[in-house]
Parts: sequence; structure tokens; C-alpha cells
Amino acid sequence: MADKLDLIPITEWGFFTLPRPMVIAGPCSAESEAQVMETAKGLASFGIHMFRAGIWKPRTHPGCFEGIGMPGLKWLQKVKETYGMFVCTEVANRDHVQACLDHGLDMLWIGARTTANPFLMQEIADALRGTDIPVLVKNPVSPDLELWIGALERLNRAGVRKLGVIHRGFSAFQSTTYRNDPGWRIAIELRTRFPELPFFADPSHMGGDRKYLLELSQRAMDLGLEGLMIESHCNPSQALSDAKQQITPEELRAMLCEQIVVRDADSQSADYRDNIDQLRARIDVIDENLLSILQSRMSVSEKIGAYKKDHNIAILQMGRWDALLDDMVRKGEREGLDERFLRSLFSVIHEESVRIQNVVLWEKEK
Ligand code: PEP
Ligand code: MN
Repeated sequence: MADKLDLIPITEWGFFTLPRPMVIAGPCSAESEAQVMETAKGLASFGIHMFRAGIWKPRTHPGCFEGIGMPGLKWLQKVKETYGMFVCTEVANRDHVQACLDHGLDMLWIGARTTANPFLMQEIADALRGTDIPVLVKNPVSPDLELWIGALERLNRAGVRKLGVIHRGFSAFQSTTYRNDPGWRIAIELRTRFPELPFFADPSHMGGDRKYLLELSQRAMDLGLEGLMIESHCNPSQALSDAKQQITPEELRAMLCEQIVVRDADSQSADYRDNIDQLRARIDVIDENLLSILQSRMSVSEKIGAYKKDHNIAILQMGRWDALLDDMVRKGEREGLDERFLRSLFSVIHEESVRIQNVVLWEKEK
């Protein structure tokens, strides 16, 4: 397992520059030459340098638009020639890689479904051996950090040194506000382990709806990520894939130029990733996770309350609690946490748990 990746800094790839955010934009799918060219024109008009468009689309169900395939690569070439933009697309096997190299694409990305497949990742890595095209790796669909790192390692061992990641959230069984759970803590963990790895967020696939784009993009910037990949279409409501989450180039311009606030202590200094705003943003994510953990714990307490009531068991069994508390304190101390802090924290949690169980008891007796 690698604890270091051999990387070429993103500012040396030839198309991304500071200040943040570095932006990749373009439609979910290349649909027609006219749609590709019109969207690219809109994006180029306010300085977007990196154009994205899906050529082969990994759709959940068969029968949906599965991408235009090879003809779309010619349209991307035309975007390069006409607007001087750089172009990128998603690859999912060695044939895609070869076709992209043959058509002079500037960058590739690996989709979430492919990152999750070590066989395909190895095939793609082998196809990239000896080339120097940059590759961005989206997180796998499940929140599996090691699988994500494994995909990066395969590429890096094959000599891909212009390497970065795109965080697009994780599939969830239950529907949540967002299409994909942001799971920011996993992104933070990856960033902590590989601080030099260029980091993009994909608020389009994370949110699944254009109404969440600004808040998710802002969160990515507050966490200090380098860039954003955003889906933009000249006519979003007519898009053949991901219509709900795409915005027009003009809407993207307004969001980037007028709405997002990007703070950098000093983007030139070596420790800019650790400025106070970014550390606070990390704390916010951790606190949100604490809230959801507390909520799960209290809902289990509620069930225990009902169970005790049904079986006529007293709510408080002090002997059991004392033993549990001692055990938690021992575990916490091993993690470097203070004993007094742990005792008072768990006492408050326990008190609340007893209160909830009492409420259940009371409600049931009414
Ligand atoms: C895409 O970028 O259009 C795409 C299919 O994304 P993901 O792999 O994140 O689902
Ligand atoms: Mn899409």
C-alpha cells in the first residue's frame, strides 16, 4: 500500500492555473456537433479552458442514451481548434484510452463505476503506460477509500504522474437530499493522506439537481479543494442525460464570477491548504457527522426504551453503565483523548438517553 504517490504538480500540466477554482465544464454527454460547439462557445466566452463531454456513458439502465461514441471525439477536436480549449472525457476501458490518445485529447477521467473495478483499472493503467496524458480519478460509487487509493496506485505504478481526483459523492440506498452522499469526511481523509494530490469536486453529480450546485461548490472551496467539474449544457432541459443537474454556460459564469466566495490565506504559501478557514470547514463537516451519529444513537435508545417497557425492565442499570463508561474511557484514552472530557461527554449522552427512554415509558403508559 502506497503512502506516497509520485506526482507532477497540477500547475505543471499546462492548463490549470491558480487562483482556485480550476474549472472543468461541459455537458454530461456530447450529443450533437451543434450542441457541443454551442456549449463550448458559451464556456470559452468567459475563460473556461478545460472542456468536458462524455463520449461513452455508463448508464444505470439499458436503453438510455449511452453516448455518441467515436464521432464525438471529432467534435472535441473541433472545440480545440475553434476555441483553443483543452478537452477531456471519461474512459472505461483500453479501447477508449486508445481512441482518446489517437484523437489528441488533453486529459482523461475515470468514472465512479470504473474506479470500483480493479480489473478495468489495471487494463486502463496498462494502456496508459508510456504516455503522459493527465488522469483524474473519480471516487468509487461506494464509500471505500482504499478502493479509490488502489485505483490511483495502479495508474501511478504504470507511470501516470499527472494524477488527480474528483470527489462526486457516494451512492446511498436510501434517498437523501442529494443524489450522492457528499461523504466529505472520506475526501478529507484522502487529502490528509495525500496532500499533494490535486482535488476536484463534482457538485453536479453530487447534488443531482442544479439547485444544489452553489452550496456544494462553496463547500468544496471552503474545504480548500483545487477545482470543480461542473456539467453545463447550452439547453439543459433538452439534455439526453442528467438534464436536471446541468446549467447553461451563462448560469455557470454567474455562479463562478458573482456567487462563489473563494478565500485563500495566501495561495503562494506552502501551507495555504491549512489556513484557518479550511480547518474550520473541516470542523464543520466533522460536527455535522457528530450530529448524525448522535441522532442514530438516540434513536437506538428510543427502541431500547420501548423494549424495556414491553419486557418490564427498569430503565437504569447502573452497574452496566459504570462498566461501559470505564471501557469507553479506556478506549478513548488510547486515542489520546482526555479522561475528564470523556467522562463528562458520556455522562451527558447517557443522561439524554435515559431521558428519551423515560419519554417512551411515559408515552406508552398514557
Ligand atoms: C459523468 O461525469 O458524466 C459521470 C458519468 O460521472 P460519474 O462517474 O461521477 O457518475
Ligand atoms: Mn452526467
